[in-house]
Amino acid sequence: MFELSAIELDDEANFRSISNSRRAKLDRHLLHLVEPSVLASYTAYSKSAGYAKKMEPIEVDEETKKALVRNYNSLDTGGSHGDLRSRILGLARNSRCPYCRRVDVVTLDHYLPKNSWPELSVFSRNLIPVCMECNWKKLNKVGIGLDRFIHPYFDSLPAASVLFADVLDAKGRIAVAYRIDASEQVPEELLRAWSFHFAELGLADVYAADAVEEVAVLAETVRILSEGGASSVGIDEHVEIQLRSLERVQGLNHWKPVLYKSISTVLQSSRRDDFVEAITSF
Ligand SMILES: [Zn+2]
Repeated sequence: MFELSAIELDDEANFRSISNSRRAKLDRHLLHLVEPSVLASYTAYSKSAGYAKKMEPIEVDEETKKALVRNYNSLDTGGSHGDLRSRILGLARNSRCPYCRRVDVVTLDHYLPKNSWPELSVFSRNLIPVCMECNWKKLNKVGIGLDRFIHPYFDSLPAASVLFADVLDAKGRIAVAYRIDASEQVPEELLRAWSFHFAELGLADVYAADAVEEVAVLAETVRILSEGGASSVGIDEHVEIQLRSLERVQGLNHWKPVLYKSISTVLQSSRRDDFVEAITSF
């Protein structure tokens, strides 16, 4: 997960412009009537940082709800406000999904789902650039109370380790397992949200699958090092360099540096020989 800086958009003008661009006269009329409530919900959302517990959806009839939800179609590629979608998609750092940090951003997620909060269907602060996999997994989920998804625009992520990995199972075989763990520097509420986010998006499994590929690369590196006559100390140097450079580029809570941190810890422990044997035959 990582933070994004939302672009400063005139959401009030955007709502009006999108609503006025609608072809159906009835939709334009209904959207005009509901506009004050929509704008009030924008203010409430910003004040509550998208926290669902404090955001009561506005009460609207079925036709108005449909008109609000359909407003989002204007943001599709080729829609009247497709440029707005492109600008928000462009916010993702290096185009990586802020929910998983694994793959490229291709779509927009409604942090609070548009089916439950139709008034937020085109509100920029509620639109998060994400990958398709996270979008599918999240769908209409919101969470309850403190169990919620990380909000990339509002949550301040700490410079402390929250994601951890283990690389060896009890029998000394390589088996990478990721987990979220407590840290003194992380506020309890944020840790709770992080755990929920991690579990609901199935990140333990996808990170473990990525890590197996990385371990295969490391196993090859170890073989190349030993062919060149390097002692097993060569592994330690390689792992330390990987760890330091990855932490600098990707931070403490990306699956890759976390994997190397775990390997580094094992290499300095009584299980060192188990690991060296396992990686040599991987
Ligand atoms: Zn993702």
